[in-house]
Amino acid sequence: MAGSYDGLRRVLALERDKKFSDSAVVGGLDEYLLRFTNEAKIGTSHPISRVLQQLPPGGYRALHPIQRQRVVDELLRSADNGANREAAKQTPLEPPLPPPVHKPVARKPASRPKAKPQATPVAGVSLDSPVSVLGPTRPDVARLRKIGLETVRDLLFHFPKRYHDYSEVRPIAGLAFGEEQTVIAEVWSAKAVMIGRRRRGAEAIVGDDSGTIRILWFGQPWVAKRLKTGTKVALSGKIGSFKGRMQMENPEIESLDDEAIFTRRFVPVYGSTEGLYMKTLRDLVRLAVDSCAADVPETLPDDVREGNGLMGAAEAFRQIHAPDSLEEADAARRRFAFEELLWIEIGVVRRRRQWQIAGAAPVLSLEAAALDGFTESLPFELTKAQRRAIDEVLADTSDSIPMTRLLEGDVGSGKTVVAAAGLLAAVASGKQGVIMAPTEILAEQHMRTFTSILDPDAAAPEANGPWFRESGDGFVVLRPPYLERPVRVALLTGSLKASGKAAVQEAISRGEVDIAVGTHALLQESVEFADLGLAVIDEQHRFGVEQRATLREKGGSPHVLVMTATPIPRTLALTVYGDLDITVLNEMPPGRPPVKTYFVPPRRREEATRFIRKKVEEGRQAFVICPLVEESESVEAKAAVQEYERLSRDEFPDLRLGLLHGRMSGGEKEATMRAFRDHDLDILVSTSVVEVGVDVPNATVILIEGADRFGLSQLHQFRGRVRRSEEQAYCFLLSDTQSEEAMERLQIMETTDSGFDLAEHDLRLRGPGEYFGTRQSGLPDLRVARLTDVELIEEARREAIRILDEDPELEDPSHAALRENVSRLWDRLTSDVS
Ligand code: ADP
Ligand code: MG
Repeated sequence: MAGSYDGLRRVLALERDKKFSDSAVVGGLDEYLLRFTNEAKIGTSHPISRVLQQLPPGGYRALHPIQRQRVVDELLRSADNGANREAAKQTPLEPPLPPPVHKPVARKPASRPKAKPQATPVAGVSLDSPVSVLGPTRPDVARLRKIGLETVRDLLFHFPKRYHDYSEVRPIAGLAFGEEQTVIAEVWSAKAVMIGRRRRGAEAIVGDDSGTIRILWFGQPWVAKRLKTGTKVALSGKIGSFKGRMQMENPEIESLDDEAIFTRRFVPVYGSTEGLYMKTLRDLVRLAVDSCAADVPETLPDDVREGNGLMGAAEAFRQIHAPDSLEEADAARRRFAFEELLWIEIGVVRRRRQWQIAGAAPVLSLEAAALDGFTESLPFELTKAQRRAIDEVLADTSDSIPMTRLLEGDVGSGKTVVAAAGLLAAVASGKQGVIMAPTEILAEQHMRTFTSILDPDAAAPEANGPWFRESGDGFVVLRPPYLERPVRVALLTGSLKASGKAAVQEAISRGEVDIAVGTHALLQESVEFADLGLAVIDEQHRFGVEQRATLREKGGSPHVLVMTATPIPRTLALTVYGDLDITVLNEMPPGRPPVKTYFVPPRRREEATRFIRKKVEEGRQAFVICPLVEESESVEAKAAVQEYERLSRDEFPDLRLGLLHGRMSGGEKEATMRAFRDHDLDILVSTSVVEVGVDVPNATVILIEGADRFGLSQLHQFRGRVRRSEEQAYCFLLSDTQSEEAMERLQIMETTDSGFDLAEHDLRLRGPGEYFGTRQSGLPDLRVARLTDVELIEEARREAIRILDEDPELEDPSHAALRENVSRLWDRLTSDVS
């Protein structure tokens, strides 16, 4: 029997089932193979002999399971050849091995090991079936739910973060700094550790025949429990250094029972959650693919797919989860990315068109003399960028197609005066204008700014106090000398007394207010404009798409100007803001030196606090920003309270400190901000809520704790808080991080002053979620598309425009699946926006 090919194949199949443990036949595979070659009388040039000749002196037994797998694969292939030759002579008595379950696919067969394991499709499973039909344990069902995987469809769309290439296992002695590498090693020890003063992590020592290496996880202390001493694991991660020695950082761990590792070269790595093993997730996804990949409707019309050289849906699901090669995985990813981007582009392009045809906007005009009067009365020269922006806004608003323009410029670049020019045009044309800010204090600030730039006389005596609040009714009448009519401005915020609110609302609806300044309170149903010409939305990243639409609906079809300090890379301009025209204020008013920024490791902390004390003694103010705590707002608030108490007690007992965090009521927050603005406080300790544009020119130092947890754009926003005057400002980035990558990131802050460069950097490194802060992006979570891929985005946009030109409402039957997906995506988006 040992001489028959069928026997050989059965032995090899059994060996595979036994996970390459060399236990398929008594005496071991080496001995069996020796007997086989003798009895089958195969020559040295026979494929089987060739495989055997490549074995090391110790034979199959001496190989690692991963290497054994490759040998078994090759032997199986050779056995098939042999069997085919025999089959020409005789009919086999035994049925051959079961054929692959995968249906043949149209694309070319790739060069890959033939013997991939086939999960058996589960009958009666559909895309909308709950994951439980695939047989996970109950706790695993709960864990799956935690990461948003509830249905079979969700599993299919749970794409791998990346792949391990297990053909590239290295001995520890052969590791090199930098790139990601995989080792297979025995765990010698593992424990949870503290990294620096605050951070928890895990540390392990592992070894193979060639040496040992320290492994460090920043965070994830529970990993230690998974690593049982004496077991073998596969670890894939980057190699950094610690005290000059190599260490592997934050690697992913694979248990060696995972069959996928032995049977495929490229193993998918999925985003998971604590307690949910990669193997479980892999098996479930495999089952989902084998059962249902072919049922997912193809949303890309044939011509679109062919025109852009994209893979079909069913094939793409298979290739993304179980790729034949990295090229195939990439092609699959590209297909999904394109599809996702197409949905987004169809949404934004359509939204833009709907606005433009929704109704004609009032035509606004500002006479040259009035514009000149306005610019001349300003206490400063406009920058070139401001001039250009004003020209663009005035040109847009002098047309009946509603303006939808985004004005972006770094903190302090002077966006408010551009808005003022637009609002002035509305008033001069007998229309109303509105400007909405994210906080009361910002709304008040705008009120004060408008007062001082539209009517310096009115502003002169009282401008330093919040007089318009105390005047009770929130109205002020300004008389710009260059305009024939007075400008009636009203402030509408949540904290106005009910009677005051009603009076302002009344006046707005009767057309007795020319410019309304306010907060979300402006969005209430009871607010109706008599004749709205221009709506300005300040600090857009704090508002959602939805609110933009609500404000727009307050008055027919007004022109809309959106302002943001978040720099927007081109790719985002085509996606999140793809419905807007964009103007960039790429120039700062002269005479404001960049903020001097320093990365401060723990040992230099004292120097930073001493510096703050010195500046406070000179009469300046400072911000202290507490580290980002991801768990929850209440944990974050608690951390801020502790920090505030520590600073008040230990470091600055003699100074006046204030505290600001997200759990405080709106009123408390405003009161603290106001106290800081009025210099009743020296130091403001705050969570990230202070991010948005409050103008406190006297604050010239900002210290950011745990700076490595913030995105660069966000750090830049914080830093902008202190760049408000000609005074030199300082920013200290405190961090006890040990990761070189994090330190490098922070050092970029020291040398880069361009918000754009930092934003690009963030986007590349951390993705749009980080870039905007969670859930602020106004963009659905992208599953595959990367917002750094300008070319693909542009292609998708062209395609979206082409499709909508032909079929504006996606009514054509060939667009049915597309339409369903576009609306599913956008519904999810608009319901998410807070
Ligand atoms: P942001 O773009 O952050 O909203 P602001 O409009 O609040 O900036 O302007 C920041 C400060 O700069 C304000 O005090 C404003 O008066 C001042 N400012 C605006 N434009 C100029 C300019 N061209 N020259 C000097 N100062 C300016
Ligand atoms: Mg501003």
